[in-house]
Amino acid sequence: MNRPTCNYDEQIQLLAQLVLASNFTTIMTGAGMSTESGIPDFRSAQGMWKTKNPAQVASIEALTECRSEFTEFYRARIERLMVCKPNIGHLILAKWEQQGLIQTIITQNVDGFHIQAGNKSVIELHGNINRLYCMDCQEKYPASRYLTIKGYVCECGGFIRPEVVLFGEYLSAESVFAAQQAIDNTELLIVLGSSLQVNPANQYIALARQHGAKVIIVNMEPTSKDDQAELLIKGCKITEVLTAVDIIFSNKCAT
Ligand code: NAD
Ligand code: ZN
Repeated sequence: MNRPTCNYDEQIQLLAQLVLASNFTTIMTGAGMSTESGIPDFRSAQGMWKTKNPAQVASIEALTECRSEFTEFYRARIERLMVCKPNIGHLILAKWEQQGLIQTIITQNVDGFHIQAGNKSVIELHGNINRLYCMDCQEKYPASRYLTIKGYVCECGGFIRPEVVLFGEYLSAESVFAAQQAIDNTELLIVLGSSLQVNPANQYIALARQHGAKVIIVNMEPTSKDDQAELLIKGCKITEVLTAVDIIFSNKCAT
């Protein structure tokens, strides 16, 4: 395995130490976790937001008033998802869970990659685009249905939508409760690849800090909560950071 190219050795050492010292570590991921799998995020330079406004097309208004734009947006996202897979960062997090180094993942992503990579304790705050359901009869369908002609029409004639939380919709009470419980228990919260502009994920940092948890933010660009982190790792790819930390853990096991 190649040594990662980022020059953040001290921060990476500290990140490893904090994980080893923590009895309950929560990982919170955003779209930046999956850009290295080939899925664009929303807000960075190559993000989807530069070409269209997801707040308009992925919204409750679009679902009710602009169905063709809505289905085209999700059809294109599903098409992209079909040719992408979890990256080395996802796989490392799955291994860390198995090794008892991390306890749970709260994700804002809808790609399902943490579960696909093998993590068992995953809270999908915004749902999962791999699942579709009919708004009338509740019949469930796989995402591939959206790639067929008029795949959004159910056998019953109802409209089939992705099982994701749209802009303007409430998060499921179950996922909010589970995330809240994880945050209450957490001693260390590591945020990977989120601009931290979306609720409630961006509130979890303050909540964790209220009971003394430490916070680490790993992100390419500045985030709105950088001043609340004990450790910031900036301008470095998540896969490089996780690989570097994983090498430290592997060396510890080998000695
Ligand atoms: P965001 O687009 O607002 O921010 C992503 C952040 O990740 C950016 O600040 C960017 O600098 C950083 N980043 C990108 N690639 C990185 C990398 N390789 N290493 C380190 N940092 C990297 O994303 P967000 O905060 O998650 O926004 C929330 C919304 O985006 C959520 O509602 C989520 O559902 C949606 N979303 C999900 C997916 C997905 O499921 N993969 C993709 C796009 C958007
Ligand atoms: Zn139906």
